Amino acid sequence: MLSSADAVIIGGGIMGTSAAFHLAQRGLRVALVEKRFIAAEATGKSSAIIRQHYSNEITAKMALYSLRVFQKFSDAVGGDAGFVETGFVVLVDAKDRDGLEENVALQKNLGINTRLISTDDLRALDMGIAETNTVAAAYEPEAGYADPAFAATSFADAARKLGAVIYQDTRAIGVEMVGGRVAGVETTNGRISTRAVVNCANAWAPGIGKMVGVDLPITASRHQVATLQRPRAHAQPHPIGADFINQIYYRPEGAALTLVGSISAAEAEQKADPDHYNEAVDYAFVEDAAQRIRNRYPYMAQALSKGGWSGIYDITPDWHPIIDEIPNGSGFFVAAGFSGHGFKLGPAVGVMVADMVMRASAPTAGLARTLFRYARFAENQPVRGKYEYSIVG
Ligand SMILES: Cc1cc2nc3c(=O)[nH]c(=O)nc-3n(C[C@H](O)[C@H](O)[C@H](O)COP(=O)(O)OP(=O)(O)OC[C@H]3O[C@@H](n4cnc5c(N)ncnc54)[C@H](O)[C@@H]3O)c2cc1C
Repeated sequence: MLSSADAVIIGGGIMGTSAAFHLAQRGLRVALVEKRFIAAEATGKSSAIIRQHYSNEITAKMALYSLRVFQKFSDAVGGDAGFVETGFVVLVDAKDRDGLEENVALQKNLGINTRLISTDDLRALDMGIAETNTVAAAYEPEAGYADPAFAATSFADAARKLGAVIYQDTRAIGVEMVGGRVAGVETTNGRISTRAVVNCANAWAPGIGKMVGVDLPITASRHQVATLQRPRAHAQPHPIGADFINQIYYRPEGAALTLVGSISAAEAEQKADPDHYNEAVDYAFVEDAAQRIRNRYPYMAQALSKGGWSGIYDITPDWHPIIDEIPNGSGFFVAAGFSGHGFKLGPAVGVMVADMVMRASAPTAGLARTLFRYARFAENQPVRGKYEYSIVG
């Protein structure tokens, strides 16, 4: 094991690997420690939907920046992120109509390719869809999904090519502080001296915070994904959807599968221990998801259940991440609490972490992290969007 590094990253999901790549690109000698293997946790289990529909400027900007990376991943990073363009629709009822319109205007201002569409347009776009109860809809033609394990592995490979060293099966068990500054990381395979630690440990981030006396307001909850096989006559992929009327998101997978998850904030109440939770899907969830997707696509009455799985969300009180150095000048950096919507932001987060660790005087590509400062919780200044869409932000 390296005896010293310029920066040690804890966690080998999309955030840690993207951070490793961007820091190595800026010439730092990086070590990344992962207790299991790359993409073993939230990243590997992600539905990996890549859309830009956000209700605050900076998150939408991060999503746009990241989409451009996913679209040209082999040039921008190297390797493959398995990006598949499908388009994405947001469907709301009267209650959220104003919010949707404001959000689309905000996104268009940032250069995001999105537009409001009528229910007739929606039907023309997606033949099998039932527009029942839908009052307003927006469409992003460039959205899609990726293979999250490919994406993280490709970031890790690209980081290695730039000199980063990645230790899998290696758990961080202590962060050493001397005089209020990070001095090293103790791992199950030895100690690495460093002046910078980046905590990208998702639901385990609070445990890493405790090592240095930092209390991170991140809780873990279990989220399920149901997999259904579409009837043969509808094998053609449909667009991705965030359906606020039926409280689900859905996306196609490969030739004939549809993944369905919940967008109800109530799911956050399923608190879980990230080390001991049921990684399978509950049959009751599959039945409920099948009913909800059938409301949107009547042909799904003939869908076959193909099971599903569960993963962990690292939820903060306002469903937005913490990207900050805590306390300032300590060398203890955090990029965690992505609350179930972080995968699509991974490329931008790597840039923001690199700016933070390098103490850049201005944010690269306008990706400012001020909104995600740790102190916002103590100051009672949570991130607020135009409407409360929990994971859709
Ligand atoms: C079911 C599900 C569906 C989702 N769908 C979407 C979606 O459609 N679109 C989207 O944008 N986002 C989605 N997300 C959210 C997204 O997947 C996460 O926000 C993102 O993957 C978080 O990445 P991460 O690197 O922070 O976390 P992780 O991938 O969990 O990585 C953290 C890593 O830290 C490691 N670690 C923890 N403690 C230690 C330690 N002490 N030492 C060493 N290593 C340690 C863990 O083993 C883990 O591999 C979804 C998440 C889930 C669970």
